[in-house]
Amino acid sequence: MMTIDNYNFAGKKAIVRVDFNVPLNEEGKITDDTRIRGALPTLKKVLAEGGALIIMSHMGKPKGKVNPKFSLSQIVDAVSEKLGVAVQFAPDCAKAAEAAAALKAGEVLLLENLRYYPEEEGKPVGIDKEDPAYNDAKKAMKESQKEFAKTLASYADCYINDAFGTAHRRHASTAVIADYFNEDSKMLGYLMEKEVQAVDNILKDIKRPFTAIMGGSKVSTKIGIIENLMDKVDNLILCGGMTYTFAKAQGGNVGNSICEMDKLDLALNIIEQAKAKGVNLVLGTDCVAGDDFKNDCNTQVCPANAIPEGWEGLDAGPETQKAFAAAIEGAKTILWNGPAGVFEFDNFTAGSRAIAEAIAKATAEGAFSLIGGGDSVACINKFGMADQVSYISTGGGALLEAIEGKVLPGVAAIKGE
Ligand code: AMP
Repeated sequence: MMTIDNYNFAGKKAIVRVDFNVPLNEEGKITDDTRIRGALPTLKKVLAEGGALIIMSHMGKPKGKVNPKFSLSQIVDAVSEKLGVAVQFAPDCAKAAEAAAALKAGEVLLLENLRYYPEEEGKPVGIDKEDPAYNDAKKAMKESQKEFAKTLASYADCYINDAFGTAHRRHASTAVIADYFNEDSKMLGYLMEKEVQAVDNILKDIKRPFTAIMGGSKVSTKIGIIENLMDKVDNLILCGGMTYTFAKAQGGNVGNSICEMDKLDLALNIIEQAKAKGVNLVLGTDCVAGDDFKNDCNTQVCPANAIPEGWEGLDAGPETQKAFAAAIEGAKTILWNGPAGVFEFDNFTAGSRAIAEAIAKATAEGAFSLIGGGDSVACINKFGMADQVSYISTGGGALLEAIEGKVLPGVAAIKGE
């Protein structure tokens, strides 16, 4: 496989898929530029070697239509400033051949939002899935998606995918375009390489013991991941709102706690699977319950399976926090996805904080720790501990699908897996 370090960019044009889907305020100013900064090492590498850049991205959900609210023209100045080059702008991503052809070494062209074209996502628009004509519309759209991808590919000599956030989508710019480049002229960007390596560290090159911590609100949204991890982990901590579905399934009383009544059998099945596979399953035994779903409600510590009527479990209790820390201590591989309580409320952060601190300690002692998938990232940032873990993934949905064991089309299109 070609890598960005092996390719000679001198005199070449590189078309790079990045994730510049940055949040903007009402005046169109960027409120968080993490995603732009994430792509800079790749973009700067191409320029430093005497290449020219054609940068493409989506922004928001314009649903296949031109919508100035989602125009990437709003970020031209910010990208120019960060790259130290005056970035040119192509107001129509599918009609940028001339501007691309005119690019000289060291120059940069940013294409307008790819999702102004329905071909980017490849889903037929304006037709219901139930409509008998839907399948034909879908086929036709797949064909025009290929044409769209071919047009984008025609702008450049090589293709780089550095948008991990959309790697789980088979879109024109994230996967289909790769078909129009040979093996030696398509590669992953640095951010993608790091993300793929981080996932390999927890799914393939596992150093033991391996502790996974899955939290968040529901079992149903995490079941794919739990089942895939069951064959790999030594310790599995299931926490957050899931705690109460497990407690209920085992005959407990959970009061008003979040509980998925249709997932009780599933919870029992997970307990059985863990036993059969020799996985140390750690579930909450006590909790901090509140008498309302708000930060300043009354609280009490009680067993997770004996929550009084009118109360709900909102965080892991002190005994549980110790058990979590014990299962993380000494681990050599750690994955954390999902908080142990309603961490958005300052009074219910202790469980998640205990996890973050145990992970930081294990990491300082040599463990590889990967934090990812939405809320646990927000959590570690809230605690100001982002620099005390090994890797924080930038891709929410993409990371979760990768951990479920699914092949990511954006990675497969380049690695050929
Ligand atoms: P998820 O998107 O499934 O990872 O869930 C994250 C959300 O789970 C966060 O917003 C937390 O506030 C929420 N959460 C964690 N623990 C609980 C709990 N005990 N009760 C209700 N919500 C919870």
